[in-house]
Amino acid sequence: MDFVTLVSLEELTTDFNYLNWLKQGGIIGLPTETVYGLAAMASQPAGIEKIYAIKKRPHYNPLIIHYPCLEEVHKDAVFSSWALQLAKTFWPGPLTLLLPKKENSSICPQAHSFLPSIAARIPDHPIARGLLEKTGPLAAPSANLSGCLSPTSPEHVLHFFRGQFPVLDGGPCKVGLESTIIDACQAPLRILRPGTLTLEKILEQLPGIPLEAAFSSQGQVVTPGSMLSHYAPQKPIRCDVQTLEEGEGLIAFGPPLAQAEVFIQLSWARDLDQAAHNFFAALHAMDKMKTCKKIAVMPIPDQGIGIAINDRLKRACYK
Ligand code: AMP
Ligand code: MG
Repeated sequence: MDFVTLVSLEELTTDFNYLNWLKQGGIIGLPTETVYGLAAMASQPAGIEKIYAIKKRPHYNPLIIHYPCLEEVHKDAVFSSWALQLAKTFWPGPLTLLLPKKENSSICPQAHSFLPSIAARIPDHPIARGLLEKTGPLAAPSANLSGCLSPTSPEHVLHFFRGQFPVLDGGPCKVGLESTIIDACQAPLRILRPGTLTLEKILEQLPGIPLEAAFSSQGQVVTPGSMLSHYAPQKPIRCDVQTLEEGEGLIAFGPPLAQAEVFIQLSWARDLDQAAHNFFAALHAMDKMKTCKKIAVMPIPDQGIGIAINDRLKRACYK
């Protein structure tokens, strides 16, 4: 296998000794419904080290552990009753739960930066689930260089890492933004990173859950790794733009600004789900476009899923 082209799950599992590859510290590009991940065996320090090295990710920034099913998570982590309700209601799906780690867990401490907790998620993607069922827990951060735009298509992964490891082809990611992270180690539970699973959606399903927003844009404590500068394109970028400047290409949300000569649309109908789905792909495309030197983004309403989009935008613009 040359790793230059994309592979299907069937090709990976029939034409390639993927289990040996993973056990010996190899990594695999993995589609999930949120963004593409860089997956390594969660119990193998060599694979975890490979992830940190290839992404140039600081070691203090712990990785999310992906599981095939709830029974597997129970082997590694302790659930409070609210944590279990969240898991049963929203998994598989774009939710990561921070849970106390069990002492006899086989997850290697390097994967969670030696913290007493692990971040667990069951992805809702047939290829991710298919691989996880064969391998068991995989540590998988986004398949990009640390600080850069997240990958929401297999081509984005090849852009960063072509030829270095097998990349599974799952097409474009359905959700397109990283998971909502909830700290479920204590009460009240806290949303540490906003995502498309919003506080409102959670309260609708689980009224009475003691849950509060505690991400940095709310001016509160954040988790390791939630740096202010993140998700940044190569070109200079401005958000909340009402008037375009010379040389700027526009990321539009609804009817574009009158002066826009070059624009990419997040959602003509101003639909926030659609905007989240298109967000990183639009930034990748604008970053590559030869006809503009800078990127300007129209205002996105700071409500519902817009909160998660604005969280990423603020970090993309942070200098
Ligand atoms: P990602 O960069 O999408 O892989 O998200 C990983 C983020 O989850 C990290 O940057 C942390 O903010 C959070 N996280 C993961 N594992 C832990 C952990 N054990 N304790 C605290 N936060 C964690
Ligand atoms: Mg990431």
